[in-house]
Amino acid sequence: MAAIRDYYETLGVTRESTDAEIKKAYRKLALKFHPDKNKDDPSAAEKFKEAAEAYEVLSDKEKRRVYDQFGHDGLKGRGFNAGGVDPRDIFESIFGRGGGMGGMGGIFEEFFGGGGGGGTRPRQGSHLRVSVSIPLADSFSGTERTIGLKRNETCETCNGNGARPGTSRKTCSGCGGRGRVQRQQGFFMMESACPQCSGAGSIIEEPCIECHGQGALPQSVDISVRIPQGIQDGSQLRVAGEGEPGDNGGPRGDLFCVIHVEEHSLFTRDGDDLICRLPVHYSQVALGAEVDVPTLEGTVSIKIPAGTQSGKILRLRGKGMPSVYGRSKGDMLVRIAVETPRKLTSRQKELLTELAETEGNGSSTPEHKSFLDKVRDLFD
Ligand SMILES: [Zn+2]
Ligand SMILES: [Zn+2]
Repeated sequence: MAAIRDYYETLGVTRESTDAEIKKAYRKLALKFHPDKNKDDPSAAEKFKEAAEAYEVLSDKEKRRVYDQFGHDGLKGRGFNAGGVDPRDIFESIFGRGGGMGGMGGIFEEFFGGGGGGGTRPRQGSHLRVSVSIPLADSFSGTERTIGLKRNETCETCNGNGARPGTSRKTCSGCGGRGRVQRQQGFFMMESACPQCSGAGSIIEEPCIECHGQGALPQSVDISVRIPQGIQDGSQLRVAGEGEPGDNGGPRGDLFCVIHVEEHSLFTRDGDDLICRLPVHYSQVALGAEVDVPTLEGTVSIKIPAGTQSGKILRLRGKGMPSVYGRSKGDMLVRIAVETPRKLTSRQKELLTELAETEGNGSSTPEHKSFLDKVRDLFD
């Protein structure tokens, strides 16, 4: 696989460029490399895609910040799926949807007019986005969720054409069914969506009663989504073909599930490692001890060596999270936290006082001794 080009370089802007400059640069490239305009140059589609991907990241404040700081890998690590969005959607998000009235869409249509027959061309439906919360344990094991959502479904009464059963759509007289009209503007012949039929090419005389001529009705559906092992908080899962229905026989859009992994009371995730803070007694680190440590697969016994310092990390290999990319597994990092007794019994007080009297020479606490030496040097 070829290395991904720097996004700023792709758009021909600098790290200091403003949002407006980035948008302008993208707009220029998108118009130049749009696949509809470069039918016999296959490399244009690739450049179009590249520009869309760069624009998607640099036009989003949060993604741009992550990219500036961590580069491409940073975006991947944070679950931003830079390449996962259809470049045509990004294109449409700034140029407007083809066939629409006014806005950039109109200008764009005029640029490339003639091409695709306007509003009668099959179009993919819109993408849908839902957010799904799962506990860490489900991210560990992988899981399946049924997601209830409302989306448009083809109207069964009119079969999606919007005309009342028994009647049919009438060819638009304004454009003769082409969906587009031409007009002279200066030296140029400009083409745009037909204002009479909004580019559809036909007109409904008697709308379907069920969907009021829309051809689709909002409906509740349940979609089953498989969530892979090791998925990270903020990741986006794409379920192809479960978005809104397309127009003119185009495919459905996709469904994007943004996964939120809930915080766990014992573990925090760092990459594929899990961190667990383990509170222990002073006596356990001084004398050494064997203690039980929780993991997502049950408890594991570990040995704390005598003389372990507070803050020390003990590593349990392979007891972390499974990697979402493959078969490897992270580690469990057990952070030793010595808990000072907050209240002492009189017996404990007695023992500790006795202990304190033996601590004078410093031979067993080298750090403490060296600290005292430095303090002495400071005042000499
Ligand atoms: Zn209908
Ligand atoms: Zn028309």
